[in-house]
Amino acid sequence: MDCIFCAIAAGEVGAELVAESEAAVAFRDREATAPTHVLVIPRKHIASVNEMSRQAPHLATDLLELCAEVARVEGIVESGYRVVTNVGDDAGQSVYHVHFHVLGGRKLREMG
Ligand code: 5GP
Ligand code: ZN
Repeated sequence: MDCIFCAIAAGEVGAELVAESEAAVAFRDREATAPTHVLVIPRKHIASVNEMSRQAPHLATDLLELCAEVARVEGIVESGYRVVTNVGDDAGQSVYHVHFHVLGGRKLREMG
């Protein structure tokens, strides 16, 4: 399967790793929109949140744990941060391997 995030998780494509766990990998977004802009992905290929709970029932917890670890490593636990996942076209999902954006290090605008 031709999936850029599977390739990053397997170490076949370079990325700046920030943290990792048994189930997930965290690396910097190549087009960062905030001082901290890290993507948290499962090692296993899952297209989006739509498929996540059925294909991997405990994965959401694993991904959120790694998001919190990223915030600790990046020193933004106290200042605050945002966890975002885009699902489908209207949300602008561009890579169909589920990923949580961890954004922080500056005041974030309201969403909408
Ligand atoms: P989406 O738009 O699907 O929510 O987010 C995909 C994100 O992946 C984008 O912010 C984009 O910059 C990032 N991205 C896409 N390809 C690569 C890559 O090869 N390496 C890294 N580090 N980030 C990528
Ligand atoms: Zn994948």
